[in-house]
Amino acid sequence: MSFSTLKLSAPILTALADLGYEKPTAIQKKAIPHVLSGRDIIAAAQTGTGKTASFVLPLLEQLNSRYKKANQKLRGKRIRALILVPTRELAVQVEASIVQYAKHLDISSMAMYGGVDAEEQKQRLIWGIDILVATPGRLLDMAHQRALYFDELDMLVLDEADRMLDMGFIDDINKIIERLPEQRQNLLFSATMSENVRGLAKRTIHKPVEISVARDESSKPKIQQWLVTTDKGNKSALLSHLISTQSWQKALIFIETKHGAAKLVSQLEKRGIAAESIHSGRTQEIREQLLNDFKLGKIKYLVATGIAARGLDIGELNLVVNYDLPGQVDEYIHRIGRTGRAGASGEAVSLVSKDNFRELCAIESRLGHVIERKEFVDFPVKKTVPVSILNFVPKNAKVKSSQAKSSSERNHQSRSSKPQGNERRTNQTKKTNVRSPWPAK
Ligand code: AMP
Repeated sequence: MSFSTLKLSAPILTALADLGYEKPTAIQKKAIPHVLSGRDIIAAAQTGTGKTASFVLPLLEQLNSRYKKANQKLRGKRIRALILVPTRELAVQVEASIVQYAKHLDISSMAMYGGVDAEEQKQRLIWGIDILVATPGRLLDMAHQRALYFDELDMLVLDEADRMLDMGFIDDINKIIERLPEQRQNLLFSATMSENVRGLAKRTIHKPVEISVARDESSKPKIQQWLVTTDKGNKSALLSHLISTQSWQKALIFIETKHGAAKLVSQLEKRGIAAESIHSGRTQEIREQLLNDFKLGKIKYLVATGIAARGLDIGELNLVVNYDLPGQVDEYIHRIGRTGRAGASGEAVSLVSKDNFRELCAIESRLGHVIERKEFVDFPVKKTVPVSILNFVPKNAKVKSSQAKSSSERNHQSRSSKPQGNERRTNQTKKTNVRSPWPAK
């Protein structure tokens, strides 16, 4: 199947050809016809499936045929389509995709997010913008300041809805939705379909078509995952050792806290490895600059807190390192998904100490297999990390995600290393030749 069978018009098809897209991905095949027919949709799709184009392309098609052909002008401070996203990085990335796909169309777009001066964004809104990609907080601020009105809006996209709820945006999202015209088309995309996401969909979306895709076989990442068990205090030395002995040329290194990120950068520097850190404590300009430099290869090792994990398309990235395992399994999946994009192969390496055991159990249980372990003779482990039992059920599996703390940076503070009483091992009695999964005190 080619894109032309999806009833997209020539300027869009040309832009796709310019980008070298040959055929639509599974989510694009399924979503585009429904969106073009005006239906609401709710789609379970992760980044890496081509989901951005699956809503941007039909959105451009509709805006072009509805307004541009009729030369219908947009009033000032008005928008026609709103794409709500959880993070500034994703806002920038989605807007960059719009610019590429709309290259041969006269459709304006803008990314709007907090952490930067609002004045310039206000100025750009003065003449109206066809497609606004925004994070919820800054969007509400703009609406409160009467810099933006929604009365001409007719399309709403909630992208990475699960992530927005995890980050505590539910109140902002509800307030935004209250301000939108009743007559509109709604598209909701989410990597996971939790009860909270379904609740949001129920309140927001009208008789949606439900779409779900696994990753395309062709674009399925071939990510080789392995881990090294280590003592907590040895992690930075082990990482330096791996960087030099494994000839790692470029790596995105995930860590839990801002403080930890800064410390790791200086520890690496002491061993002659130049690295940079990216986290919520750095200004937006610096974060953008660092990401760009990393993409261009000017920075070889980028230490990032979880906030940078989602949605980012870093292009060619062969290696992701979990210096710390994340508290949430989804976060692990998203982190390792930064590598092996668009069918390329990638490697995801985790440094696991005994106090990460609970997280390891949760991750391996989700994967359905244990992750290959490698040992390095120069780094003998004093506190052994046991092998997990694969049907581990994390304590917080059913916690409402809107109540969850807003980022892995905060999650970190509340975690205890020992499994809690109501974490279950459903096959405790199953005969297995692995050691007890619970670390001895
Ligand atoms: P996404 O899931 O939207 O983050 O997209 C993942 C990557 O796939 C991005 O780099 C897109 O540019 C790319 N992509 C999206 N659709 C296609 C397609 N039909 N053919 C080739 N690449 C695509």
